[in-house]
Amino acid sequence: MPEILEVERYRQAAEAVVGRTIETVLAPDAWFLKRGLTPGEARAALTGRAVVTTRRRGKLLMLDTDGPVLGLRFGMTGRLLVDGSGPIAGLEYGPDRLDPAWRRFGLEFRSGGSLVVDDARRLGGVELWPDEASLGADALSITRKELAAALAGGRAPLKAALLDQRRVAGIGNLLADEILWRAGLDPARPASRLSLDEVARLHRTLRRVLTQLGARGGSHTGDLQIARQPGAVCPRDGTPLERRTVGGRTTYSCPAHQR
Ligand SMILES: [Zn+2]
Repeated sequence: MPEILEVERYRQAAEAVVGRTIETVLAPDAWFLKRGLTPGEARAALTGRAVVTTRRRGKLLMLDTDGPVLGLRFGMTGRLLVDGSGPIAGLEYGPDRLDPAWRRFGLEFRSGGSLVVDDARRLGGVELWPDEASLGADALSITRKELAAALAGGRAPLKAALLDQRRVAGIGNLLADEILWRAGLDPARPASRLSLDEVARLHRTLRRVLTQLGARGGSHTGDLQIARQPGAVCPRDGTPLERRTVGGRTTYSCPAHQR
């Protein structure tokens, strides 16, 4: 968290600042600025610029200005506050409270209001001209053909391939487990060995999960969520769930119906 659904809500919230001109750039945490960007450079590049559009690719939120593109990444606990309020109250792994010490970056506008990134664990970041081309197809609009291409080649486990932002942009740990659990696919299977039917099923499931969980309120609202704890059983068939590390992440799956 935040995964694609949360960042899409951040993007929608950020729409409120389109048309506003940046008066002040707040960069109290130089470490949060990435790819060599310094607080002084960020101020010089953005002050006086107007926000023209908001875009998102996977978990990367972009604000196009009449100058540079500003890229915002939210890591595990990043939150966006627009005009002092956040579109998401609590993140699954993040603290619910806000602390001024977690304020990493912000813009204040000439006409009033602000856009602030708050990040307790500091795993997110801010950059100018982010490398969009390194990201795979966006998970909210990926086609079956694009998904098949993203899974082809190499020996990566299926879940690792879904988490690889260069292959599919936007899927994080919770969504990956939910999608594979619903699709009945073993997360540890080599991604490149899926049949055409399985790719089609995975694509349908991915679309359905994103639509449904988006409507419910986020990545943590999946049907597998209550079972993401040691000793839990599969909500579908009652089989004790397997807890493993796949693709470097804690993974819950059902040994009975995920194959
Ligand atoms: Zn099961």
